Amino acid sequence: MINVIILGPPGAGKGTQSQRLEERAGLKQLSTGDMLRAEVAAQTEIGNKVKAILDRGDLVPDDLIVAMIGKRIGEFDCKYGVIFDGFPRTLAQAQALDAMLEKKGSPLKAVIELAVDEQELLNRQRSRIAETKAAGGEVRSDDNEETLRNRLSVFRQQTTPLIPYYRDRGVLETVDGMQPVDVVSRAIKAILAKNDGTCPASNGNAVKNACPTR
Ligand code: AMP
Repeated sequence: MINVIILGPPGAGKGTQSQRLEERAGLKQLSTGDMLRAEVAAQTEIGNKVKAILDRGDLVPDDLIVAMIGKRIGEFDCKYGVIFDGFPRTLAQAQALDAMLEKKGSPLKAVIELAVDEQELLNRQRSRIAETKAAGGEVRSDDNEETLRNRLSVFRQQTTPLIPYYRDRGVLETVDGMQPVDVVSRAIKAILAKNDGTCPASNGNAVKNACPTR
């Protein structure tokens, strides 16, 4: 059983890379953004509560997200492990995840940080919106420059503290997310293969080379 976190600013390719990774050995991709958008679309109580937050690009409250993930990872399709896409986004969420995984006896194998330049993200968004419109598609209500700028600032302030948090625990791996999608996928695959020799300590920290490679 393995769990992987894909960490990175909005638009860095977390979703694309997580989906590609999902094709590997029964891992389940869980995107908190997709889960929240599904609630909004279904106009549930949670959905109605979070719609404006999503549209602004702010973070929904930690307790709501933690409860949602806590429930979801207990489901059958998560039994071989999860690729967390867009979660955790705050230190409180990271600590809650540690506690949940420890309780489940399911270690964190790696945190993959996709490093991407902010200007590149704004450029990518412009092309994506233009392509979607050209194809007659509908642009997401939080896919505009103002919201992206806010989401980038929220990422800088609330999510980047997770980088030293996971680095200190020996599980952080950084991949240059500016490279072509296939190159990024291969880099992630190589990291996970390399980390097959990593043993989780009882406190959830990874101890490199502590046990023979399987
Ligand atoms: P995403 O699709 O991951 O970029 O998420 C879209 C939006 O959902 C974010 O801008 C937040 O408003 C909300 N969201 C997703 N994941 C989280 C999270 N882990 N914590 C708080 N808010 C989240």
